[in-house]
Amino acid sequence: MSTIESAQSEKRLFPPSGAFVQQAHLDSEGLRVLHDEASADPGAFWLGQAEQLVWRTRPTQGLDDSQHPFVRWFADGRLNLTESCLDRHLHTARRNKAALIWEGEPGDHRVLTYFELHREVCRTAAALLRLGIKTGDRVIVYMPMVPELVIAVLACARIGATHSVIFGGFSAEAIRDRINDAGAIAVITADGGYRRGKVVPLKHNVDEALQHCPGIRHVIVVSRTGQDITMHPGRDHFYSDLVKAESGHCEPAIVPAEHPLFILYTSGTTGKPKGVVHSTGGYGTQVAFTAKHVFDLRDEDTYFCTADVGWVTGHSYIVYGPLIHGATVVIYEGAPDTPHKGRFWEIIDKWGVTIFYTAPTAIRAFMRWGDQFPRGYRMDTLRLLGTVGEPINPAAWMWYHEHIGRGRCPIVDTWWQTETGGIMVSPLPGATVTKPGSCTRPLPGIAVEVIHKDGTRCGPNEGGYLVITRSWPGQLRTVWGDPERYRKTYFGDLTVDGRSVYFTGDGARFDEDGYLWVMGRVDDVLNVAGHRIGTAEVESALVGHPHVAEAAVVGRPDELKGQAIVAFVTLRSSHAKTPDTADILKAHVVHEIGAIARPDEIRFTDALPKTRSGKIMRRLLREIATTGHAVGDVTTLEDLAVLTRLSATDSDEE
Ligand code: ATP
Ligand code: MG
Repeated sequence: MSTIESAQSEKRLFPPSGAFVQQAHLDSEGLRVLHDEASADPGAFWLGQAEQLVWRTRPTQGLDDSQHPFVRWFADGRLNLTESCLDRHLHTARRNKAALIWEGEPGDHRVLTYFELHREVCRTAAALLRLGIKTGDRVIVYMPMVPELVIAVLACARIGATHSVIFGGFSAEAIRDRINDAGAIAVITADGGYRRGKVVPLKHNVDEALQHCPGIRHVIVVSRTGQDITMHPGRDHFYSDLVKAESGHCEPAIVPAEHPLFILYTSGTTGKPKGVVHSTGGYGTQVAFTAKHVFDLRDEDTYFCTADVGWVTGHSYIVYGPLIHGATVVIYEGAPDTPHKGRFWEIIDKWGVTIFYTAPTAIRAFMRWGDQFPRGYRMDTLRLLGTVGEPINPAAWMWYHEHIGRGRCPIVDTWWQTETGGIMVSPLPGATVTKPGSCTRPLPGIAVEVIHKDGTRCGPNEGGYLVITRSWPGQLRTVWGDPERYRKTYFGDLTVDGRSVYFTGDGARFDEDGYLWVMGRVDDVLNVAGHRIGTAEVESALVGHPHVAEAAVVGRPDELKGQAIVAFVTLRSSHAKTPDTADILKAHVVHEIGAIARPDEIRFTDALPKTRSGKIMRRLLREIATTGHAVGDVTTLEDLAVLTRLSATDSDEE
């Protein structure tokens, strides 16, 4: 019974337009050639892709898997990744091109050219060196989305210090745990940041965390809000004081390809966050390859990714990937509804954004707010849209296509993880016919399979475990300080052809056309009367109903059926709940999927528990549905109050 059943069938097809194909880096023929090259000789294929980086010593070795599951890529290569992101552009026409266009929440903005960004990174790197921070040290970056965040990250990379960015929404407790786990010696932060018109007290949070972090020697503080803060003499330095003495020259530290570029803690959707370690050369190659082809990046593009640099999406597709290609990147400091719910669309029109990358959770929020917000903007510069983070339900995909892409822009639904470093499964916009809700096919060089527990491959439309059977350059190298956790978490029991394979934690199926559908986390799969059902399909059916804005589905132990289905539902603001809403929604799920998926209970709520990256935490909902309250790890939860409200939700059951 290891198969996850599926009842979803999406028939709509969206081929790329002729005009898009004409100008794209890759059309379907070009993609076929890449796939052939990659499958003929994966090592040579990736060595070829590594040429997109600037090396001081070019690698001759591809994958070294001799210590499986501990891998090395390009092991004899040496480089500094900031040379690929910055220095290489200084001798070209990109020297005075905008690298970063930054939009502050209060409406201020700054533009930094490649020349200016390089200079600021070098000044900051030189200042770090002067404080005694050196190659191999760990530096925490806890900042608002301001240009200095990007500068800080690159300055660490410049001197070979391993950065660990902590999302600016995290509390003192979360900072303390990550600092101590990473063994960091310095923190780069700001006095505060703006979020929904309020000031977030970043420096204050750091001070609180540092009461329990004996290893921290230096705190560097960028002035953003100008609020009152306490400076600890000897330990704390104002960023502006440190860099004003620096000239703008700083030799890059040349490191081996395997040098750890960064540690990043996962979102914590399924449990306690893990310190994911990424390499320099392999990671850089993966993001260079994917940024170019998935986003079809060109010199004329203005690319806006709404993720925070505190998540892997921000690392790979705000900082490293786009800068390697000399793109213009738009970053926004604040919330999408501040000061009004059309803020993203306003930014798109203001800067002429051509590529827009966001998350399904954000798209569902835009839908809930209503079509009138995007309608007021032209958005005629957009040519490509992307999503990442969760399965996108077809209803949200269609809304994105119509209301943001205006029927004109291809959508790339990109499946990947903090651990994969870069995009693994995605359409290529000039080459792939898309189906709403499917992330389509693995990229060239990426070996993804769906298997049963016993390691045999699932047939078409049979749901099973999503695994990666061959190493890829952007693969995480270990869990920081805990190689055993790395081995157990990712290379546990699942084997293919007798060899342990990387397990993603996700359930999925390939359809009859070889398109991949992610069905949700394997831990969340429902087991109802002997049928295993993925959460994504039931949620997608619920969200497909015009009254529903968001839904999360979990199982609760049930004597008769094994598990009963409990659905937590948020209604659209335009629809008030009536006495028969629950019955209507249950009937809707039966109509869409079948009687087996009929929710036993529907609970109406005004908000769902989410991680700070916007993902639904079903493990907490499962506890609430079962015991009435949640006691699991809640450090990555966005809003603690939501738990109390959920325990008292309005259920249709008496
Ligand atoms: P943790 O591992 O700590 O529980 P997390 O898995 O949420 O946290 P991330 O690395 O941010 O941390 O998320 C990766 C996961 O997000 C994937 O395993 C998958 O479940 C989901 N995901 C990302 N992109 C997509 C997508 N395009 N389609 C479906 N699911 C996606
Ligand atoms: Mg995960």
